[in-house]
Amino acid sequence: MPEVEQISSQINAPVSLVTGAGGFLGSHLVDRLLLEGHQVIGLDNLCTGSLENLDNAMSSNKKFKYFQTDITAAFILPDLKCDFIWHLASPASPVDYRRLSIETMLVNSIGTKNMLDMAVEHNAKFLLASTSEAYGDPQVHPQPETYWGNVNPLGERACYDESKRFAEALTCEYHRCYCLDTRIIRIFNTYGPRMQINDGRVVPNFICQALRGEPLTVYGDGAQTRSFVYVADEVEGLLRAMFYENTSGEVINIGNPDEYTILEFAGIIARLCKVELNVVYKPLPPDDPAKRCPDISKARVLLGWEPAISLELGLAATIDSFVHKLTR
Ligand code: UDP
Repeated sequence: MPEVEQISSQINAPVSLVTGAGGFLGSHLVDRLLLEGHQVIGLDNLCTGSLENLDNAMSSNKKFKYFQTDITAAFILPDLKCDFIWHLASPASPVDYRRLSIETMLVNSIGTKNMLDMAVEHNAKFLLASTSEAYGDPQVHPQPETYWGNVNPLGERACYDESKRFAEALTCEYHRCYCLDTRIIRIFNTYGPRMQINDGRVVPNFICQALRGEPLTVYGDGAQTRSFVYVADEVEGLLRAMFYENTSGEVINIGNPDEYTILEFAGIIARLCKVELNVVYKPLPPDDPAKRCPDISKARVLLGWEPAISLELGLAATIDSFVHKLTR
């Protein structure tokens, strides 16, 4: 792998490896790490990510290297000492992980094991991007990290929920058995530019529908709640969780505690897109959580972190990016 050896010998900067680098969140993390002066190795099999997301990273400087690879197969970084492993690779939208259910389970199990082994080999700090889905359809509200969750292990979301829970358990065992420096971040609904138009999530669906003058598809009665964090805030939380000293072995929620019903959220999107609110009701998908809201007390104390970007500002930037995508 000559390119990798080259950047190792050329530049004396921390080396970060990001799995899922071509994804929505992964690509924003890559950009931020490059800004922080890291050399970044990006891995992706592009099953849901896209190379377009990495345009900035590829064009901006030589400190970024991308490898199209599936991390459920072995991947070796020869002669390169990796300092930080950010493990984000996994389909993350309900539509994508249903479509890629077995791949989702394998990347979160075998893929996570491969990345943890690499972290042991390189003595690298390790961050697992987990999910609020670890709480399933929660019976405790808002959700603190100490809540064990309410997950249907046989349901249609189990391929994601349970494989992320397995990834969390495996990460904890590597921390215990190998004293690996790990942290687990439970990521709550994150939005921003570079979300895929067709990934089926509520933010791209509602924005695209509003911009096209179509009715907004509300699943169920729209009384279910979510809270939305802007991608730059999420990335800031991930960086603090990796770099702050008191985070080894911890699990931390990173999300926005401002909670909205999906019907309220439809109204906000319609207003920001400057269209009349027009809704069509569709069936609620199986096991769709009725409520979701992070308790971020731990992030506040350990990381001094809380979201800084308002929903209005974040959505305005996101809507702008979708206007561009749809008019290209
Ligand atoms: N949802 C909706 N209409 C859509 C897409 C999603 O009403 O077109 C609802 C979905 O049922 C869920 C919430 O919005 O209650 C958030 O869904 P999303 O797929 O964004 O992510 P989730 O939080 O379920 O992982």
